[in-house]
Amino acid sequence: MNDVRYIYDLSEGDASMKPLLGGKGAGVAEMNKVGVPVPDAFTVTTKACVETMNNGGTWPETLAEQIAQGLARLEQRTGRTLGGTTKPLLVSVRSGAVFSMPGMMDTILNLGISDESVVAVAEESGNERFAWDCYRRFIQMYGEVVEGVPSHVYEDALSALKSSRGVENDTDLTAEDLKELVATFKEISNEQLGGEWTSDPREQLNRAVNAVFKSWQNPRAEVYRRANNISASLGTAVNIMQMVFGNRGDTSATGVCFTRNPSTGEKALYGEFLVNAQGEDVVAGIRTPRPLAEMREVLPEAYDQLIDTMHRMENHYKDMQDMEFTVEDGKLFLLQTRNGKRTAAAALKVASDLVDEGIITKNEALLRIEPGQLDQLLHPAIDPSHGRQPVALGLPASPGAAVGEIVFDADTAAERGGRGEPVILVRFETTPDDIHGVIVAQGILTAHGGMTSHAAVVARGMGKPCVAGAQGIRIDPVAKTLTIGATVFHEGDTMTLDGSVGKVYGEALALIPPQINEDFQRVVQWADEVRRLGVRANADNFEDATKARELGAEGIGLCRTEHMFMAQDRLPAVRKMILADTPEQRAAALAEILPMQQTDFEGIFTAMKGLPVTVRLLDPPLHEFLPNLVEQSLLVQRLELEGGDTAELAQARQTLSQVKKLHELNPMLGTRGCRLAMLYPEIPEMQARAIIRAALAVLDREGETVGVEIMIPLVALTKELETQRAIVVAAVEEEFAAAGRSLDYTVGTMIELPRAALIADKIAEHADFFSFGTNDLTQTTIGISRDDAENGFLTNYVMEHVLERNPFESIDVEGVGQLVTEGVTKGRSTKPKLKTGVCGEHGGDPDSVEFFNSAGLDYVSCSPFRVPIARFAAAKAVL
Ligand code: ADP
Ligand code: MG
Ligand code: MG
Repeated sequence: MNDVRYIYDLSEGDASMKPLLGGKGAGVAEMNKVGVPVPDAFTVTTKACVETMNNGGTWPETLAEQIAQGLARLEQRTGRTLGGTTKPLLVSVRSGAVFSMPGMMDTILNLGISDESVVAVAEESGNERFAWDCYRRFIQMYGEVVEGVPSHVYEDALSALKSSRGVENDTDLTAEDLKELVATFKEISNEQLGGEWTSDPREQLNRAVNAVFKSWQNPRAEVYRRANNISASLGTAVNIMQMVFGNRGDTSATGVCFTRNPSTGEKALYGEFLVNAQGEDVVAGIRTPRPLAEMREVLPEAYDQLIDTMHRMENHYKDMQDMEFTVEDGKLFLLQTRNGKRTAAAALKVASDLVDEGIITKNEALLRIEPGQLDQLLHPAIDPSHGRQPVALGLPASPGAAVGEIVFDADTAAERGGRGEPVILVRFETTPDDIHGVIVAQGILTAHGGMTSHAAVVARGMGKPCVAGAQGIRIDPVAKTLTIGATVFHEGDTMTLDGSVGKVYGEALALIPPQINEDFQRVVQWADEVRRLGVRANADNFEDATKARELGAEGIGLCRTEHMFMAQDRLPAVRKMILADTPEQRAAALAEILPMQQTDFEGIFTAMKGLPVTVRLLDPPLHEFLPNLVEQSLLVQRLELEGGDTAELAQARQTLSQVKKLHELNPMLGTRGCRLAMLYPEIPEMQARAIIRAALAVLDREGETVGVEIMIPLVALTKELETQRAIVVAAVEEEFAAAGRSLDYTVGTMIELPRAALIADKIAEHADFFSFGTNDLTQTTIGISRDDAENGFLTNYVMEHVLERNPFESIDVEGVGQLVTEGVTKGRSTKPKLKTGVCGEHGGDPDSVEFFNSAGLDYVSCSPFRVPIARFAAAKAVL
């Protein structure tokens, strides 16, 4: 017998039960607990949803029974009956996941209205029209969401009725009209379902709960979870809550409010409301609501109570809240509260202000910041000196600048945006179904909807600029045109959005680089005070190195030297070196390259003086230096056809034979890294000389130089490192002798092949430091080619949850992570003080950083723009 509890009454829950009750369920329970008025309710747990999913859609044995009991208790507490002929109970059936996913799942309102109860609803409210309007809304919502009736079926019937009555708006329909519409709706629903339409509210309740469970797996929820790294295995809770009516007349209203401005973080009133409406109208962006401040005049008492409640809940949760409310006949109810989604700039300001206000500690403030979000701060803004007039004005729903070609549907946005083309998605209103287009668009422009609609909330969370409810724009999605006054814009025309002020420009405006603000500087310092892990950057030139320092890098963890060879002006010398027949020829070619390398290093060392710089010796596959085999063959053929035994042909033939000799079928597993250096020891020797000469030159010029760390790539065998180290040390010592002075330097290795990690204790005998190259280590451990996989099966694996995350984005802790841990432990068993770091994309991924912290590494190194993220992630890892 299964005696698991799947149901909790409102009074049994609290904020700590979020994993079980979902954010919404735990939030209303907590409000109820502290005396905030919320409608009575009970919650079906996430566990019920998970078990149902795992059981192929079949409910746990006792679930239906427990729901019936929960309903019976709710009926008793409210003194009402679901579908009753007197005092009927109407409920909403609301989705509510542990991590909020605004609008991605389904909610059904007004359940319990039926042929029997509608009369009583009319009598009780003294408003017959209201009762029948609820009924027709319910059939439409229930039919679409639960029974899968296509929405146009209802819309067509509604339009037909309106035109037969000669009216424009839904609100012009009378109670009698709506009664007729309900009859039509029921008839067509039943037709659509082949006679299977159910009108029993208790049966409808069970089906609605099941539909909400299923909506956890609908495509937009999947897309949203993937974009936000939310696990697919969590499931949603379902809240069954007594309905309160914001649509009962002019003393009723509904709205959404934030306790602070979620775009900027300012402590100022932010919210919207609609009189005589249901909440769905605001959050779905169907109607453009009014600013909350105006509610003071319309409903002064409820307004004061709301403001008071906002303050209370913010102090209670010690964080900015995003709340839904409804006023029924002058009486205020809160329907939802959650920590509000916000832009990165707002996150920093709120965290910083809450500390100043004495509400939270610095460490708590750090925990409020989502490191992954911070790259939003690094987005460019519109150059304020443009002097252009906007073509339209709208609401500043999500800040930032977007320049792109306009498109009119989410699929096109997803397709073009997915190819990396800058597009702006233009919609009448955005619905959660557009999420796949929103994710890849530069920005969003809508004609309808306010700043608290789901679309705006989602856009802010992702840092997508959004102008909502733009006035005077006409969108024709079929003709794909946007008309503003006399001007018609077509799909593919370029526009610019300024989401910070709500302006739309009919052309591309110039952008300026982002500015890191004061709040960032202040809060990131708190992060630096607590983190243990060092943060370095990957940088190969002066500009990147300078950027890295600005963003707080404490050194360079990976300076790749291959681009120094690949540059157009250097490639001929490099080819000469590789194709040389004698060591003398090779030495001559390298002598040409040395001064160029030295100049590059001087640039980087100047930018980073005083800090450590890890220079990785040459590591590309051989073929990248050589002419392409096919092209070279074609060249030879062409010259042969042209006839004549020219010197050019002889040269081409010779090159071809050399290319053939060096050709590899699997270059990524071929002559790379130290393997190339083992073949041509002159290369590491030359590089070591260039590094040391540059370091000494910078020391002379600046009075200070960098901590020189020379790194040998792609080591698998002890002997490789031993040999390479000897070559480097000999060259360095010669340079010191020639210069008559020396400086401190170390020689270490990349750990990027499984064998190296496994024998790290032996490798460590010849290394002063390890740097885990987790990109290659992932490639070689899992056996997935990094360059191909994303176009092929890997994407599929992630979609199908064979893998939860792309292992090149976030480290595979279970497999690759084990090699890292093993490598660190073994390395330190030989050299207890061995310095260890990570270079590679993972160094800028918050989840991976958390793992690296626990694996005991000394630092992570990532691209300059991810340095702020890594600083915060490293702080969170220890809190
Ligand atoms: P979502 O997660 O999509 O926001 P919600 O469950 O919050 O879905 O519901 C959608 C809208 O319906 C919200 O505006 C909410 O305030 C409103 N709503 C939900 N339940 C009730 C209720 N019991 N009474 C009145 N309005 C409700
Ligand atoms: Mg909601
Ligand atoms: Mg590598």
